[in-house]
Amino acid sequence: MEREQLSVDVLFVGAGPANLAAAYRLAKTLEAQGREAEIAIIEKGQSVGDHILSGGIMDPRAVEELFGPDWRDEIPVDGPVRGESVFFMTETLAIPFPIVPPTLHNEGCYIVSLSKICAALKDKLEAMGVMICEGFPGKELLFDGDRVVGVRTMDMGLDRNGQPGPSFQPGTDMFAKVTVLGEGTRGSLTKSLVDRLGLAGPNPQIYGTGIKEIWDIPAGRVYPGQVWHSAGWPLTNDQYGGSWMYAMSETRVSIGFVSALDSGDPTFDPYQTMQRWKTHPKIKGLLEGGSLVRSGAKTVPEGGYWSRPRSFGDGFLIIGDSGSLLNIARLKGIHTAIKSGMLAADTIVDCLALDDFGAGRLSLYESMFEQSWLGEELRKNRNFRAYFQQGFWAGGLLNGIAMLFGGRIFRDRVPLHADCEAMKPAHWGKEPMAVDGKLTFDKVTGVYNAGAIHEEQQPSHLVIADTSICVTRCAEEYGNPCESFCPADVYEIATGDDGGKRMQINFSNCVHCKTCDVADPYQLITWTVPTDAGGPKYMGM
Ligand code: SF4
Repeated sequence: MEREQLSVDVLFVGAGPANLAAAYRLAKTLEAQGREAEIAIIEKGQSVGDHILSGGIMDPRAVEELFGPDWRDEIPVDGPVRGESVFFMTETLAIPFPIVPPTLHNEGCYIVSLSKICAALKDKLEAMGVMICEGFPGKELLFDGDRVVGVRTMDMGLDRNGQPGPSFQPGTDMFAKVTVLGEGTRGSLTKSLVDRLGLAGPNPQIYGTGIKEIWDIPAGRVYPGQVWHSAGWPLTNDQYGGSWMYAMSETRVSIGFVSALDSGDPTFDPYQTMQRWKTHPKIKGLLEGGSLVRSGAKTVPEGGYWSRPRSFGDGFLIIGDSGSLLNIARLKGIHTAIKSGMLAADTIVDCLALDDFGAGRLSLYESMFEQSWLGEELRKNRNFRAYFQQGFWAGGLLNGIAMLFGGRIFRDRVPLHADCEAMKPAHWGKEPMAVDGKLTFDKVTGVYNAGAIHEEQQPSHLVIADTSICVTRCAEEYGNPCESFCPADVYEIATGDDGGKRMQINFSNCVHCKTCDVADPYQLITWTVPTDAGGPKYMGM
C-alpha cells in the first residue's frame, strides 16, 4: 500500500498541556537562538481541546515559568481560588475538616478549563509555524530496531470489517528524529512502547476514573473561586477517591468525583457513584433548580513517582500523564505536565544542537526532572497512593505522618498492586440506581452531554481478544464488571436470537476514558484509536 511519508525533526503525539508547552518552549528557544526545526503535533481529536478533560484547578508555577509574570495575558482562566473547605461525608452529613490538609491548599491557584487553555496554546503555536495535525490519531510507532523513528497515523475510511471503504485513505508515516509521547492517561502508543521495551516503573500504574459535570445553578449558593473537596460517602473504607466542587462563577460550577479502580469490587460503577454523591443533601442543595450543561469521564493516573516508566530511549521521550507525573496528593496534573514539557523541550534543544537523539543524550530529560522542583514535588509524595491501598484511615494516618516530616521519612518504595489484579470474584449483587433526569442521569445521557460521536461504519476501536470469555469465565467469576465500570454503556451482554449470550460493544458511545483498558481483570480489552478521529467534545470542560 502506498503511504504518504512526512519527515520532521520533532514529532509530538497528543495535543495536551505537556506537548503543547513543550512545542511552545522549543519553538521559542530556537527562535531566540536564531535556529530552526520542523516541529509537528498530531492529535486524535477533531480539534485541539476536544479530548481534554481535567478537574480544573491549576497551580500557576509552570505557566509562570513558560510565559513569565504576565502569563494571565497568554491563556484563559476562570479566576483565582478565593476560599476552600474539605469535608468528610456520611450519607447525610458533610463534616468540615478542622484544617485543610497541606496538600489540598489551593491558595494562589486558578480555576481553569484545560481544554480552553490547550486551544489557546494551539493558536499560538500555529502562529509560530508549528504544524498541528488535528484528527490525526497515531496508530502505531515506527521502529528501526528498538529505536523509535516516528508514527504511522490511523487509516481513515475503513468499513465495519476493517476493510478499505469508498473514502479510504491510508495513514501517513511521519518520521522524526525524536518522538515525544504526551498522549495523556493510558496512552495507547505509550502502552505498546512500555511493553515492547520493558520500560515499566518499579510499581505498576494505577488509576482512578473521574466523572466531571458542569452545572448552571441559581445565584447565591457559591461565590466565584470557592472550592470544596470531600472524602467518604458514597465510598467505603476500602475505596479510595473523593469529590470536588469548583465555582467557575457565581452561577456555574465544575463538580466531579474520582473513584479508584483498585477496590476489587467487580460491580463498582464510577459513573453511578458520582450520581449517588449528587443526592447528598449538601450537593443536592447546591444543584437543585440548576441544569446540567456538560459531562465527561477520564481516567486519572494515580501511581505517581514509583509508577513512572523509563521516560527516555533511542528516539523518544514520554512526558505528562503518560509519564505518570500527576501529583495525586495535590489532585493536580496540569502544572506537572507543563513543566515536564518544558524539560523535554530543553532536552531536545540540546539534542538538536548535537544532532544526537540517542538514549544517552535524551537521558538529560531524566536528570533534569530529578533536579527540578517537579522531581522534588513528586518525590515528596512518592508513597501517597500506596498507603491508601491499606484503607482510607490507615492511608490518611501514614500520609499525615509522612507530611509532618516533609517527605523525609518513609522514603523507600511501598509496592502497589495493579487495578486489574485487585478484582475479586463477584459475591454481591449489582444495585442499579434509579435516576430522575433532573439531578441524576443515566449513562446514555452522560454520553450525549460529552458530545461523543463515532461514525458507525468502522471497526470497533475497543478490541476484545476473546469474546467467548465474556460470556463464560468472566460472567461466572466476576459477573461482567465491564458493564459496571464503563461510564458510557459501551459493553453489554446481549441475548442473541438463539437465546445465547454474546458481548455487544456499543463503541460509538465511547468517551475515551480508558477505564476498560485498565480495569478488565483478564486484560483482554485493548483501547485503540478509532479510524474516524471520533470521540467526545470537551471544549469548555
Ligand atoms: Fe471508557 Fe472503555 Fe467505556 Fe470507552 S469503552 S467509555 S474507554 S470504559
